[in-house]
Amino acid sequence: MTKANPYAVAQQQFEKAADFCSLPSTVRQILSQPKNELIVNFPVKMDSGDYKLFKGYRVQHNNLRGPYKGGIRYHHEVTLDEIKALAAWMTFKCALHDIPFGGAKGGIKFNPRDYSPTELERITRRFTHALGNNIGPEHDIPAPDVGTNGQTMVWMMDTYMAFAGAVSEHTSRGVVTGKTLAAGGSHGREAATGQGIVHCITEWARDRRFELNGATFMVQGFGNVGSHAAKILARTGASMVAVGDWKGYVANPDGINPFKLAEYVARTGSVVDYPGTHAIAREAFFATEVDIFIPAALELEIGVAEAKALKAKVIVEGANGPTDPSAEPIILEKGIALIPDILANSGGVAVSYYEWLQNKRSEVWDLEEVEEKLAKRMKRTYLAVSEFATSRKCDWRTAAMCISIGRIAKAYGERGIFP
Ligand code: NAD
Repeated sequence: MTKANPYAVAQQQFEKAADFCSLPSTVRQILSQPKNELIVNFPVKMDSGDYKLFKGYRVQHNNLRGPYKGGIRYHHEVTLDEIKALAAWMTFKCALHDIPFGGAKGGIKFNPRDYSPTELERITRRFTHALGNNIGPEHDIPAPDVGTNGQTMVWMMDTYMAFAGAVSEHTSRGVVTGKTLAAGGSHGREAATGQGIVHCITEWARDRRFELNGATFMVQGFGNVGSHAAKILARTGASMVAVGDWKGYVANPDGINPFKLAEYVARTGSVVDYPGTHAIAREAFFATEVDIFIPAALELEIGVAEAKALKAKVIVEGANGPTDPSAEPIILEKGIALIPDILANSGGVAVSYYEWLQNKRSEVWDLEEVEEKLAKRMKRTYLAVSEFATSRKCDWRTAAMCISIGRIAKAYGERGIFP
C-alpha cells in the first residue's frame, strides 16, 4: 500500500480540530511547525572494523508547557516528516493529559535487525553524543519507540552522564525515561502503553455495557505496545484471534495465548509460524470478525481498503497515527468507535512522567502506586474526551485534539509571545 505523508496527515488532523474550536490564528501558526529540527550524520565502527555513516533526527515540536518529550525510533523508513508528525502528536498527547511536558521525537534511519548488540550500543552512544546538549533532563527527554527499548535508553543515559560531569551525574538520570528498573526506570513503565490501551477498552465496554469476557480481539504489531496490550486484555477473558507483525499474519479462531506468543516472538523475532495458528494474508487479517482491533505497528496502516474491510466494534489506536484521514469517515459511518492515539496510547508518556518525577526526587514508587495513578489519569482523560465529543457532537479525535490545543492556547494567551 502507498501511504500518505505522515506530517501532512498530522497537519490535516490539527487543522480540522483548530477549525472546530476556532483556535486563535497565532497559536495555529506556531503549532503548525516544530520549534527545532535537528539532523545529525555520525560515523560508527562496525564489528568488521569498517565505519558506516548514520543519519539521526531529533525534532522538538513545542515546549510551552514543559520540557520536550518523545520517543526514539530505529527503523529503515524513518524520515524527517515522519519524525515531525510524531513530535507534534507528542505535544498534543501531553497537553491532553495535562502533563507538564511538550512534544518531541527522534530516530535513526536504519534497520536494527541488521546489526549486532555491540553495534547497536555504539550506534546509540554515538547518536547520543551527537545530540549533545540538545537533550537533557530539564530540556528534552527521549524514551523508547519502535525498534528501541529499555536497554537503548540505558545506553543513552550512561553516555549523557559520562559527559555531564561528576557533580551533575545523578541529576542527569532523568535525561531519558523507559529505562530498565536496575538503571533507574519506573515500575510499570514497560507495560504502561498497553495498560493504558486496556483502560480505554474497559471504559468503552463499561459505557456500552459490553461484556469483555468472551469478546474477541486482534492486534497488528506485537512489540512492546501490542504484546502488553494483548496480555493485559486477555486477563479480562477476551480472546486474541489474529495477530500480525513485519513478517506476516496468523490466526486461530479458538484463541492465541499472548503470554506464550510473547515468549515465542522473543525467541524467533516474529509471530509467523507460531504453533497452533494458520497463516493469513494482510487483507484477511483486516477482514477478521472481531470485537476489538488494536493497531500497534506503524502509522497509516489503515487506509480506505482496510477501513472497508474492518468488522470490529472499536478500534483502539495503540500506534501513533495508524489511521489515514480518508479512512476515518468510512470507519465512523460503519458505526465503529475509534479511540484516537493521543488518548489510547498515552499510558506510556504518563508513566514516563512518573519515572521522571521519581528520578528528580530520588524516589522509587511501587507498582501499585504507579498503576493506581495511571488508572486514575487514563479514566479522567477518557471521560473528558467522551464528554467533549458528546456535548460538542464531534468525533473523538477532534474532541481530544480540541481539549489539548485549547490548553496550549490558554497558556500562550496568558504568557503572550516575546517580545
Ligand atoms: P516495537 O518496535 O516494540 O514493535 C513494533 C511492532 O510492529 C513489531 O511487532 C513489528 O514487527 C511490527 N511492525 C513493524 N512494521 C510492520 C508492518 N509494516 N506491518 C505490521 N507490523 C509491523 O514498537 P512499539 O514501541 O510497540 O511501538 C508500536 C507503535 O506504538 C508505534 O506507532 C509507536 O510510535 C507507538 N507507541 C509506542 C509507545 C511505547 O511506549 N513504546 C508509546 C506510545 C505509542
